[in-house]
Amino acid sequence: MLGGGQLGRFFVMSAQKLGYKVLVLDPDPNSPAGQIADNHLCASYDDEQALRQIIDSCDYVSTEFENIPAQTLQFLEKDLTVRPSSKAVSIVQNRILEKSFLKENDFPVGDFIIISNLDDLQKVELSIFPAILKIAQFGYDGKGQIHVNNKEELEKAFTKFKNAPCVLEKKINLDTEVSVVLARSNNDEKVFYPLVENQHINGILDTSIIPAEVNQEIYDETLKIADRLSSALDYIGVMAVEFFVCQNHVYVNEIAPRPHNSGHFSIDACDYSQFDLQVRALTGMKLKQPKLIHNSRMINLLGDVWFRGDSQINPAFNNIKDESIKLHLYGKKEPRRGRKMGHYTVLGDDPEKIKQLAFKTKEMLLS
Ligand code: ADP
Ligand code: MG
Repeated sequence: MLGGGQLGRFFVMSAQKLGYKVLVLDPDPNSPAGQIADNHLCASYDDEQALRQIIDSCDYVSTEFENIPAQTLQFLEKDLTVRPSSKAVSIVQNRILEKSFLKENDFPVGDFIIISNLDDLQKVELSIFPAILKIAQFGYDGKGQIHVNNKEELEKAFTKFKNAPCVLEKKINLDTEVSVVLARSNNDEKVFYPLVENQHINGILDTSIIPAEVNQEIYDETLKIADRLSSALDYIGVMAVEFFVCQNHVYVNEIAPRPHNSGHFSIDACDYSQFDLQVRALTGMKLKQPKLIHNSRMINLLGDVWFRGDSQINPAFNNIKDESIKLHLYGKKEPRRGRKMGHYTVLGDDPEKIKQLAFKTKEMLLS
C-alpha cells in the first residue's frame, strides 16, 4: 500500500481479514496505516531502494495517496500488479489533465480555463468570475485553492501559487454535491455503492448522507456517468467521482483514484466496505455487489473538535452510548485544525432520526 493515511489503514484491516500481509510505504514513522501494517517501510515515495524492496516482497500494489508520483507506479508496474494503473492515476492526480480528459470525452464539466503561465492570465474572460483558482497538483481538502472575484485577485492568487500550473474554475451555485463510489475489476465487472450526498465546510467534507436525497434523474445520471468514466479511464480498483448539482444539472467535479472519505459509511452500513472491494479488485477476486443494510449519515471529526479556545482536550467519546453510532479514530497522534482525525457513522431506518442523532452526538462531543 503506497500511503499510510486513514484510507491505507482501513485497507490494511480489510486485507488482513482475508489473510493477506500488507507492507505500507509512508515516510511518516507514525502513519495510521504503518502502525498496523505487517511491515512499515518508512521511506519516501521515490526511494529506489524502498521500491526494490517492494518488488522483492510484494505481489500487488495499490495506493491511497492521490499524489503518489506516477513514476513510482510505472517503476513497480514492470514487475508487479499495480491497480489502479499509473496511466489512470497520472490523469486524475493532475487537475489540468483531469479536466481536459473529461472535456475531450464529453463528460459534463463546469466552465474552466487552464492557467499555465502569465500569458494565460490575459486570456481570461470576465464572465468566469467569481471563480476558484486551483493548483493543478497536490491540493486536497480545499487546500491549494483561492477564491477570486476579478483579474487583480486572480493575478495575486497566481503569484501566491508561485506561478505553478492551475485551473481557474467558474464558481458554481451548488444546490448540493454528490459522489459515486464504485469498483471495477480487470474483467470489466463493476459494482456501485448507493449515491452519497455530501456537505462541505470550508472545502472539507463534513457530512455524507446515504442514500443521497436527490431526485431519481440526478441519481441515475450520476451513476451512469461514473460507470462510463471508469471504462474511459480503463480503471481497475475502487474510485470515486465527485459531482456538483446545480439546477437539475450535474457536473463532474473531480475523480479520486482510491476509496473516498464519502464512502466510509460502507464500513458499517454495508456488507462489503469500499476497502474490502479495493482488496478484491486488486487481487483479482470476484467483486461483490455491496448491499446497503442501513441508511446512514457519516460525520467527519476534524482536529478542531479537540480544541476549546487555546486549550486541547480529548472529546468525550465515552459518552457515545447509542449502539447505532459507529466511531472510528485513525490513531493520529496530534490533532490539528482541519486534520481528519476520525469519523462516526449513524445507522438507522428513518433519515430524520439519523440526522438528529448525528447532530446531538456532534454537540455532545463539542461540549
Ligand atoms: P479537494 O481536492 O480539496 O476535494 P475540490 O475541487 O473537490 O478539491 O473542492 C473542494 C470543495 O470546494 C468542493 O467539494 C466544493 O464544495 C467546493 N468547490 C470546489 N470547486 C467549486 C466550484 N467550481 N464551484 C463551487 N464550489 C466549488
Ligand atoms: Mg474534492
